[in-house]
Amino acid sequence: MTSDEEELLRRAIALAAEARAGGNPPFGSLLAGPDGTVLAEERNSSLTDRDITAHPELKLARWAGRELDPATAAATTMYTSCQPCGMCAGAIARSGLGRVVYALSGDQLDELKPPGTTFTDPPSAGPALYAEARVPVEGYYR
Ligand SMILES: [Zn+2]
Repeated sequence: MTSDEEELLRRAIALAAEARAGGNPPFGSLLAGPDGTVLAEERNSSLTDRDITAHPELKLARWAGRELDPATAAATTMYTSCQPCGMCAGAIARSGLGRVVYALSGDQLDELKPPGTTFTDPPSAGPALYAEARVPVEGYYR
């Protein structure tokens, strides 16, 4: 990682501190162009917005999907204070962002949390009703 990239990552960490100071979970992210220009910044606002999806990475992925053409999105890098969670990783993949650089890993984050505070997936069932469920999908992806 270059010193310029470390500076962008430090800005993401500063955004995390700002999120915490504002009463939210301590996570921040930014999106930078290929020359390191900051295109957008976000802080976690899941508590003040009462929105469990208000992660900074998801907000930036949604912004990129709305505001950037695919080639521009692919040339960006997201700098984020922590490795994106599964929800955000899915949105980042769909937004076509080019790269993600993070400070804390998900495992390092979990080590900083009290025991029993990590998220677990609920029980699920499926696949089922394939013949019926395939009807609205078949032929869509061409
Ligand atoms: Zn997330």
